[in-house]
Amino acid sequence: GHHQLADLLDPILDDALFEANQSGKQLRVPPLPDIALRMWPELLARALENPLRNALKYATSLIEVDWTSTDQYWIMTIRDDGAGVPAEQLALLFQPFYRVDDARNSQTGGTGLGLAIAAEAVRRHGGIITADHNDPHGLLITITLPLA
Ligand code: ATP
Ligand code: MG
Repeated sequence: GHHQLADLLDPILDDALFEANQSGKQLRVPPLPDIALRMWPELLARALENPLRNALKYATSLIEVDWTSTDQYWIMTIRDDGAGVPAEQLALLFQPFYRVDDARNSQTGGTGLGLAIAAEAVRRHGGIITADHNDPHGLLITITLPLA
């Protein structure tokens, strides 16, 4: 059915703001959107939450969340200022169990499933998720979901 994005985002952002605060990082989020989407809320929550958790984990000090809508799409971006991911590995991040540089990740932990789950959840909502280099450094995740 249709659900307000704000209802979905509110608890996710609350947790993320708490976590950012705990780790001494800054998380910037815009005011909640006034948009309803046809969704499976539990599934879509994973799609928005998993990349945000990564950003919190890998950011040096700043995570910026933003969203915008066109007449057809709602587009969410998550940027961090961490080490990012080498260009040739960006497309691999969405494969199950894929992790960049095991040595670096041995301290941070994780199974490599978060983004694979997010990608499948986005796909089931008719959307797309992409990973790009964030300027000047870090990772940029873009989630595009159809409005209709
Ligand atoms: P899980 O999410 O299952 O706990 P994970 O975070 O390692 O484990 P994914 O979320 O699927 O797995 O991410 C896959 C890999 O992509 C990570 O191991 C990491 O190497 C890289 N990655 C993901 N997000 C970022 C980011 N914001 N900055 C740098 N590297 C990232
Ligand atoms: Mg993860």
